[in-house]
Amino acid sequence: MNIKEIHPIGYCYGVINAINLAKKIRKENPDSPVYVFGMIVHNEAVSKELADLGIVTVDTSNINKREKLKEFKKGDIVIFTAHGHDESLDAILDENEVTHYDAVCTIVKLNMGKIKEAIRSGRDVIFIGKEGHPETEASISIDERVHLYDIKNGIDFSKVGDNPLVTNQTTLSYLEIEHIHNDIKTNRPNAEIIDEICSASRLRQQAINNVTEDIDLCLIVGSKTSSNTNKLFEIALGKKNIRTTLKINDKSDLINLDLNTINNVLIASGTSTNLTVVEEIKKYLEDR
Ligand code: SF4
Repeated sequence: MNIKEIHPIGYCYGVINAINLAKKIRKENPDSPVYVFGMIVHNEAVSKELADLGIVTVDTSNINKREKLKEFKKGDIVIFTAHGHDESLDAILDENEVTHYDAVCTIVKLNMGKIKEAIRSGRDVIFIGKEGHPETEASISIDERVHLYDIKNGIDFSKVGDNPLVTNQTTLSYLEIEHIHNDIKTNRPNAEIIDEICSASRLRQQAINNVTEDIDLCLIVGSKTSSNTNKLFEIALGKKNIRTTLKINDKSDLINLDLNTINNVLIASGTSTNLTVVEEIKKYLEDR
């Protein structure tokens, strides 16, 4: 069996920084309750690793975040996730003297800074992203003049000014964003378009798209909640030279798979997938 890896592989630096920050806070505050407000990165194994250190991940899906934040009290420590957050939420914690930290990735922070700058200079912003994704929620929370261009449902251009700044969620696919940029150029010819897909996501996408040999099985390793993992999966699915593509969490997802006709395997990982998980999958395949 030939096994080819897509590089980069394993954690990106934004994920490493977020995990290290949480661990450092735990170490420096051994007796304090420590919470992550949402999944620190989109990978269940990472949340489990933090849980083993006594760090509680608060499920923020389908809840009123403002109300939930009011429940924390002095002495608690709250960490916001790598995806960025609505910064107006900080005031709720400040009011109750709750210590809080921000594990936002520097790339996301930089992108949010560009949005703020455009708003300050009186322009509208179009943010291309997936509705409900935490990075998208954080970015559109900056100002009411940040308009979401949802990757599924599009945008109502009638609400957008003449010369908007156009930016995007950092983990989108460089292929899907192209036609959205064209749509925006048609509707807002004076728009300034910047492409903010981070290199950790883009390089993996391009590497999969550039694979030319015939692949029997492509394994995309990562959580179903991970945007960049899902984009790798979509790109692999669209390639004619890849016979089967599977999205898996770890080697346990391979147990019932018939490997008898599999000769060429391609493995890629999302940016929040630990390299150890990939190594275990490779070993499982090599042993067969
Ligand atoms: S995927 Fe990109 S934006 Fe997200 S944490 Fe990693 S480097 Fe940062």
